[in-house]
Amino acid sequence: MKHLLFVIIAPFSFSLSANSQTYFQQEVDYRIDVQLYDQENILRGFEEFDYKNNSKDALAFIYVHLWPNGYKNNETALAKQLYLMDDMSLEYAAEGDRGYIDSLGFKVDGKDVSWMYDADHVDICKIELAEPLKPGESITVSTPFKVKIPSGDISRLGFVEESYQVTQWYPKPAVYDLDGWHQMPYLTQGEFYSEYGTFDVSITLPKNYVVGATGDLQTASEIEFLNERVKTTTANFKDDKFSSETKFGRALRSFPESDTALKTIRFTQKDVHDFAWFADKRFEVLKGEVELPNSGEIVTSWAMFVPHHSKLWENAIEYLNDATHYYSLWNGDYPYKHVTAVDGTISAGGGMEYPNITVIGNAGSKEELEVVIVHEVGHNWFYGLLGSNERDHAWMDEGLNTLNEIRYMQTKYPNNKRMSDMASGIVGKLHFEDLNHHHMSDLTFSMMSSYGIDQPIELGSNDYTPVNYGAIVYAKTGLVFMYLKDYLEDAEFDKAMQAYYDEWHYKHPQPADIRKTIEKETGKDLGWLFEDLIQTTKQIDYKIKSAKIGETTSTVKVKNIGQINSPVRVDALSFGQVRESIWIEPGEKVSEVTFKGTSYDQFVLDANRQMPEANRNNNYWTKKGLFHRTEPFKMELIGGDNEGNNWNNFWMPAIGVNTYDKFMIGAIFHNQTLPKNKLEYTLAPMFSIGRLNLAGFGDINYSWVPAKNIRTITLGVLGKTFGNGLEFSTEGNVPATYYTVQPYLNFELGKPNVHKFYKHRLQLKGHYILEKGVALENSLSGASLNYGFKYNKRVHSINAGLRLDYYDAINNSNTGGVVGPLSSDLMNLGIEFEYTLEYWDRKNKTISIRAFMGQNLFSNGTKADRYGFALGGQTGTQDVTYEQYMFGRNQASGLWNNQRLENQGGFKTTSDFVTNGSMFTTNIYAELPYIPIIGAYADFGMFDQAGTMQTVSTAGLGVRFSDRLGIYFPLYESDNLKASFLDGIKYGEKIRFTLNLSGISLSKLIPRFL
Ligand SMILES: [Zn+2]
Repeated sequence: MKHLLFVIIAPFSFSLSANSQTYFQQEVDYRIDVQLYDQENILRGFEEFDYKNNSKDALAFIYVHLWPNGYKNNETALAKQLYLMDDMSLEYAAEGDRGYIDSLGFKVDGKDVSWMYDADHVDICKIELAEPLKPGESITVSTPFKVKIPSGDISRLGFVEESYQVTQWYPKPAVYDLDGWHQMPYLTQGEFYSEYGTFDVSITLPKNYVVGATGDLQTASEIEFLNERVKTTTANFKDDKFSSETKFGRALRSFPESDTALKTIRFTQKDVHDFAWFADKRFEVLKGEVELPNSGEIVTSWAMFVPHHSKLWENAIEYLNDATHYYSLWNGDYPYKHVTAVDGTISAGGGMEYPNITVIGNAGSKEELEVVIVHEVGHNWFYGLLGSNERDHAWMDEGLNTLNEIRYMQTKYPNNKRMSDMASGIVGKLHFEDLNHHHMSDLTFSMMSSYGIDQPIELGSNDYTPVNYGAIVYAKTGLVFMYLKDYLEDAEFDKAMQAYYDEWHYKHPQPADIRKTIEKETGKDLGWLFEDLIQTTKQIDYKIKSAKIGETTSTVKVKNIGQINSPVRVDALSFGQVRESIWIEPGEKVSEVTFKGTSYDQFVLDANRQMPEANRNNNYWTKKGLFHRTEPFKMELIGGDNEGNNWNNFWMPAIGVNTYDKFMIGAIFHNQTLPKNKLEYTLAPMFSIGRLNLAGFGDINYSWVPAKNIRTITLGVLGKTFGNGLEFSTEGNVPATYYTVQPYLNFELGKPNVHKFYKHRLQLKGHYILEKGVALENSLSGASLNYGFKYNKRVHSINAGLRLDYYDAINNSNTGGVVGPLSSDLMNLGIEFEYTLEYWDRKNKTISIRAFMGQNLFSNGTKADRYGFALGGQTGTQDVTYEQYMFGRNQASGLWNNQRLENQGGFKTTSDFVTNGSMFTTNIYAELPYIPIIGAYADFGMFDQAGTMQTVSTAGLGVRFSDRLGIYFPLYESDNLKASFLDGIKYGEKIRFTLNLSGISLSKLIPRFL
């Protein structure tokens, strides 16, 4: 049978391999001589590389990367990406801070060839070969080159004063693989993909530079020079020379003069795919060694750092050694002779990896330095040895590396509180307790996923929002593989990862390759991981349906209410400790597991929080009490994280103030936390001193993340009661009260994408409003449809909104200029559009133009001005539905009478003009160059009053502290506007201000990247 099968398959497999190529990779061997001219920030050099074609194709040309050209002008892919990320460092860079590569003259086997820049990217070129390069053949390509080093503030290649980070600096062929050429422009967000080969690099520079580089140092005098440095650094530590930075102060930071004498040092390395070097005259040097866990080979470790960071770096050798040990243990031994970390200022994140050497940005603490060093050293495996295509599948290096980084922290510091330590620095002593390094990834990812603003793991680097690049590529992938490790258990998982290492090191694995290896090793179908968790934003959500503790066994029913069919672990606990665990394999919607014991008091899904699950509130069952699935109630001060297996609530004291309530004293109770709860509430009951009555507000809503293009849908109801001005009665002025009940349904639209700068929201809101005093009783019921659009980009932004209101109002008394009783029902349409242009380079000055159109669509009964459109209305006339915070809603005089709102006519000068017909206005505001916070405004308006169109205009100066706080001084009013003012109005009474505490202006939506 076997034999027969073989015969049938043999010709078939032969034809397959004849038509489609099997795995291959090209080889590139470099020889580079380069000299650093540190006075001019220039490198001059000569490069020669042998390119061997191992493919089955004849190559007519070769793509070569010229990445220093990414820094050349504002048209490069790098410049465009930085601009997308609101980083203007290249856009606004001075000429001396830009970079480029020139003086090129490519030759192939010593003969001139024709070569040209890529039409779209000046940092890619194409060398046309005179003869196609046949399979198995090699050519030698050579060129002189000159690199102008850019400022280190922009990205990875750069100078910071006289410190040099020389990365992605030489002409380098793009990868040619089974999918063809992978030429790519240089980017900050988005890494690399390079061919393996050997490097032989000689660097010439002033003698007193300390250099860290890829490869083994071949120059004996330089080895001696470094060993001398190690001696002085060690002595300096011993003599406590670094103990006080202030003692040595500037001396530690300043650069010594460059030696006039030069030195040439040579490095060589095989089986790597990049070469980077770092030079700084100030570097202190520490040296150590680590024995590899499998082979017993010795690896030398080097740490190079500036003197004023010495205290921080004093244990760097330990971090390097431990990282090398654990990564070797879990994945496979480190095959190179040294592992080095250098101290640098890096603008592309906390650190950056190159073969053998990593550059570390400014770390705030030793703990942070250790994590960054471990992570970057770890890239020697996930990037260096396993050379995946980082640009297209960034998770294969960053995500798998994050898994190892989390595991390192868990192994070396099992009781670490790293996330809590960081949170206490950032948000004070809020309740972020017992959060370790793993929780950092967990919270980052689940925050994005609970708001529906995450992106899939498998996505091109340039398509992520900067937040998601961290939260998804790093954090979620790390969590997904921690989950797999937990499911497979360590031994099985390590076996699979080591098989991946054995099969793919020094090669270019693709996503399908790692899947194939792990599935083969474990014998499991991992579609739930490699398809659902990696390729989609589908969410995992399991819940305990029921549990029963019987005579001899206990059973737990688990229901999958999520979008992924993955394994889930059920933990049986007693006295808070996990006693028994059972994994449910992917399969049924509802599963039942049986535990052998009966002495348990809790059942919890994934008690150790290893699953990337956003909603953990339904993972709990307790023996105690009537409501077995209700987590224990917990109330903490102010705020904190959403702890697993607690029902987290928070409270804080509250005081409020407005003209009618005077002071209010009370408390705010809420459950807003991370990860977000689906059911959220905020209740703020207060006691009003002014009215001797209850005041406050409450909001309760349920939100969820549907599929496709909606981020979240929220259904909720908001209620408020506060003082509402004074009722004018025969007995004098008496305080009145208002009550609102407003149910709402919000659709946050548009999934995030860094290339899309807009977001929009649709809201349906109902209104029931009652204003009540002694004789006063006005009511309004109605509904609004709101659509807001925001386009946000440096230089240009647009806010636009549409609002359709229906009101059914009954007024019984004299309020807001309306003499009751009246009854009216009406419908209004308002449309606004605002364009803001950043017009003054680098100083962030803006000019904005807003247009508004308001139109009454119909009205029955009394046409009440109160429900119309106001030009620049005083007090609450522009807020019929009580959605804004106002301190003196119905004040006829005094300070709070001059609070203005940005909606409707938007006039900055006060005006009594109101229409219940049509209104058109234009509002212009320009921040003045050179003078901080001062701007000029001009408002134009047309509106119909008793059937005729009126035209109004005004202009003045503004002092704006932010979008929410501004003061406006009128300088000019048109005659009809002037005539409308009260007789004897003083200038001071015309000064108006914006104080926007609610931010619910039609179009002001959530921040761009939340
Ligand atoms: Zn990384």
